[in-house]
Amino acid sequence: MADPRTVRQLNRQHMIELFSDGQARSRAAVARTTGLTKPSVSSIIDSLLEEELLVPAGVGEAAVAGGRRPNLVIFNPDARAYVGVHLGVRNSSVAVADALGRTLARASAPSSVGDAAAGVNRLEPLVREAAERAGVPVTRISSVGVSVSGLVDHRSGRCLLAPNLDWHDVPLREWVEELFGVPAVIYNEAHAGALAEQRFGWGDGIANFVRIMVDTGIGAGVVLDSRLFSGAAGIGGEIGHCRVEDNGRQCACGNSGCLESVASRPAILQSVREAAEDGTPTALASDCDIDTVLHAAEHGDAGATAALRRAGTALGRGIAYLRNVLNPDLVVLGGAVTRAGEVLRQPMEQAVRCSSLPHSACRLVTSSLHHAELDGAVVLAREHVAL
Ligand SMILES: [Zn+2]
Repeated sequence: MADPRTVRQLNRQHMIELFSDGQARSRAAVARTTGLTKPSVSSIIDSLLEEELLVPAGVGEAAVAGGRRPNLVIFNPDARAYVGVHLGVRNSSVAVADALGRTLARASAPSSVGDAAAGVNRLEPLVREAAERAGVPVTRISSVGVSVSGLVDHRSGRCLLAPNLDWHDVPLREWVEELFGVPAVIYNEAHAGALAEQRFGWGDGIANFVRIMVDTGIGAGVVLDSRLFSGAAGIGGEIGHCRVEDNGRQCACGNSGCLESVASRPAILQSVREAAEDGTPTALASDCDIDTVLHAAEHGDAGATAALRRAGTALGRGIAYLRNVLNPDLVVLGGAVTRAGEVLRQPMEQAVRCSSLPHSACRLVTSSLHHAELDGAVVLAREHVAL
């Protein structure tokens, strides 16, 4: 038999979700919608009123003419605030959100490479700045969700390795909880991105999908049966380290020919330099950035085109692995590299077709979210921290 406390917790979460649409409801209406008994509904509503997550909202219409008019209650978005944090390779960003998970303000600063403690301590003034801009007292913050560019065991709350930040086995959850004095939860950034996609993007209502982030690194968040799949050690979805090229480049992980060593932002820049050295005509400088490469490719630059076509083919092979193993309904691509248009997409789709089983109908779309890893951290704070 289920633990009654767990059942009550689930019912409570269900009622919070119900009221998240901002509609005022009577206790009887909630009982009808949820199928719970009136005493159960009343007991949970009483505790939510006490916590000020619900507030009185006048009286409604009587069920029958001349009958008693019911007291209504409504969700109070100011009851608490959530903080999302994204510890990215280049920037650390924070978002302060209301009790409905709506982001009210953001702030960011350069990330701290090589010094995890300094990187975490820097979050305190950033959160203060965003909270002030949002008009939210910091005492209202009830939990913090963190997404980080690295391997994370979310159960122990440790960042095992963040190669691009040069962080090694950091007790991130402990540090963040100490800093803010509230519960925290830590996930890998690609996993957080998938949660954001599920809540705000293409993944809404899709039971099985994968979101691949192609940026400084490459990682994927896998959602199966509507739940994020983390794997045995919490590092599921590391598609960036699938081998896609024989005799390929050395990868930071120690292997060679990994997807990340061909299709990540720095890998594409390296391909541009190598193409120039091999005599491919290009107007690009050796220290150009990814936006310049994307722009040059649109205008027919041969070096930029070759680099992006190679990346597209590699991505397509990686996506085919995922399709064959997981049979998702949808693959969503996010991150700076996926802003490239047809020059990346055409070889990518061709490689997907060449390496996928037939009959695995699967849409391939580009994410429209601009802050997926940060939005996902807010989702983590609101939905994945036990309150
Ligand atoms: Zn690798």
